[in-house]
Amino acid sequence: MSRRLLARLRDLMARSAAPLSELAAVIAAEMVSEVCSIYALRPGEVLELVATHGLRPEAVGRTRLRIGEGLVGLSAATGEILNLPDAQNHPAFAYRPETGEEPFAALLAVPVRRAGRMLGVVVVQNRAARLYAEDEAETLETVAMLLAEPLAAMAANEPGGEDLATTLPRHFVGTTLVAGLIVGPVVVHGLRPAPTRLLADDPPAEQARFEQAATRMLSGLDQLMVTSGDHPAAAVTRDVLQAYRLIAEDAGWLRRVAERIATGLSAEAAIERAASEVRERMRRITDPYLRERLADIEDLAERLRAALDAGAPTPPVPPGAILLARRLGPAHLLDWHARGIAGVVVEEASAAGHAAIIARALSLPMLGGARGVMAAAESGDLAILDGEEGQLILRPPDDVRRAYQRAARERAARARGFVALARTPAQTRDGTPFRLMINAGLTQELAALDAIGAEGIGLFRTEIAMLARGRMLDVAEQAALYSRVLDAAAGRPVLFRTLDLGGDKLLPEADTGGEENPAMGWRSIRVGLDRPAILRRQLRALLLAAAGRPLSVMFPMVATLGEFLAVKRLLLAERERVRQAPARLSIGSMIEVPALLWQTDELLAAADFVSIGSNDLMQFLFAADRGASALAGRYDVLSPPVLALLAALARRAEAAMVPLSLCGEAAGEPLVALVLVALGITTLSMNAAALLPVKAALTAVDLNAFRAFLAMLRRQGSDGASLRRPLDTWAREHDVPV
Ligand code: PEP
Ligand code: MG
Repeated sequence: MSRRLLARLRDLMARSAAPLSELAAVIAAEMVSEVCSIYALRPGEVLELVATHGLRPEAVGRTRLRIGEGLVGLSAATGEILNLPDAQNHPAFAYRPETGEEPFAALLAVPVRRAGRMLGVVVVQNRAARLYAEDEAETLETVAMLLAEPLAAMAANEPGGEDLATTLPRHFVGTTLVAGLIVGPVVVHGLRPAPTRLLADDPPAEQARFEQAATRMLSGLDQLMVTSGDHPAAAVTRDVLQAYRLIAEDAGWLRRVAERIATGLSAEAAIERAASEVRERMRRITDPYLRERLADIEDLAERLRAALDAGAPTPPVPPGAILLARRLGPAHLLDWHARGIAGVVVEEASAAGHAAIIARALSLPMLGGARGVMAAAESGDLAILDGEEGQLILRPPDDVRRAYQRAARERAARARGFVALARTPAQTRDGTPFRLMINAGLTQELAALDAIGAEGIGLFRTEIAMLARGRMLDVAEQAALYSRVLDAAAGRPVLFRTLDLGGDKLLPEADTGGEENPAMGWRSIRVGLDRPAILRRQLRALLLAAAGRPLSVMFPMVATLGEFLAVKRLLLAERERVRQAPARLSIGSMIEVPALLWQTDELLAAADFVSIGSNDLMQFLFAADRGASALAGRYDVLSPPVLALLAALARRAEAAMVPLSLCGEAAGEPLVALVLVALGITTLSMNAAALLPVKAALTAVDLNAFRAFLAMLRRQGSDGASLRRPLDTWAREHDVPV
């Protein structure tokens, strides 16, 4: 790339009001092109010729093309570079006689963008029919990056200029993991905002800065390899890191960054160019292996930029922002929530994954399985997260955006309508009582108890507070937290579930040795039984927090009766040690590992209560990873085998007179809740946002009639597939809001 061109442009732009026509002349001269034209996006989504060197000057201000019209409009619409040896014979070519462009055959058009906003297009043209070389295209791309500055300033000085659209709207379909509607700018997980300093005065110094950052990045990767442990499974992690490090060291892309710095770009701008080149390539590549490698480079570019501004404060998140991520762990999600995002869209994730559960607990609208969204969006793009239809609309047209904003206002009004239900008795239309409790894990969620009239906390996930803080809490910290929870519950039951870490819920300090199949690995009470000190500390904290009040403790991931008896013994032993025993100690088990279903009677004899964890039970029952978006919706709770299992459990628990509840995500779906209550599981625990909609359905149903219909469907026999559709139709026909 021409260093002289950059230097000349920099000098010109340093003078405050260098006219664009002067820039166009310099670009044309340095690129040995007969024409250089600059088009700016104007209100109404029109591209206007604002400067030219080589076309007729009188066309400036007159030649206008809609987005998508002509070659310039095409480049703006798709965000892609056009490199055409014979432009006038291209099907999209739009003839504009005032420009006098007939003699010019070859055309190279590059969109000018900043922070995801389309600002215009820069074009060079030549008489001779030829394809521009890769480095010429590259030079014009760098020029486009520089032109963003004056074009953005121009747009900002214009009424309505700040609303200019970027490229055309894009539409992504996914699975709604948490319902809701958000209209706001996107922020991209793992990407920082576009660099503001594009040019460097002292390229050698800039080069040194870059080299230091690269060294920092590489030693960070080495550090990761050292700390990945020496467990046999850690070898896998190390292999992956090793491969990643090889890519990191790969001279190719680092050299390209260095070359750009040598032409006068700042290190940030040079890395940004490398990353956007990778993003551009990713748009076209479908091979999953290659895509992963490119994703690695993108990720490394991000690390490099982080290394460059090590110590700089994290940029603020704009209000109402929608987070886009390829994958997202629960700890990251909590991080972003603390920074103020209003919604989340991930390319991979499903309803029962822990990030989704946390999003639900936080009432954070979330969409999963929206493939391709990362490559298409840039931070700052406006988007609509539409949970109703399971879609994300990127860069929506104005009228669409306005319609959604109206819908959002109506939704808020509807939600206020539910509030009246909070104080109505919890019984079906024909008088069957039920109990609705909430799942919680953060103290912010406790306020919901009173606001929605919940009967208690049917599942308190104790690991969430630790994930939120990123470390284990000591006994005193835990006791203080649990005590606050009991205070907020004010006598209503709280089922504290002991730590369920492992699987996708990992603390940074966790050393699980990189299990291949963590959901079925060393998690939950399996860790507790092998490292009893951690579990005993938690049990002590719970007993201390109860301070004489009733206490319910529930153990997750129990696979055998023996495991339950062992953890129960630990709890009873701790009870002997505290000064003040709880007024009543109830010890329960979750039912989420299928093997336990064949030990039901023994378990019911040993437990004070049981609760079905349908998220894990479903994943193990169907051998279908709860986090796999490709499997989301494939297997249904409302299918005959699961209904048979639930009905049998309900009968056995009733016969043994042991309270039974269900606390998986399924309980929060109004239609599933109807079925559960019809089967005799009348205590349901769910995320707070779902409680009143579930109550609306249950209080509206004639349970006897619904039960008869359900029994009839189940008698009909089936191939094991879902009964959701006929059940849903029945509910709608009988005015039950599901
Ligand atoms: C479940 O598995 O259904 C459950 C409630 O626990 P978690 O989702 O925390 O694994
Ligand atoms: Mg579970």
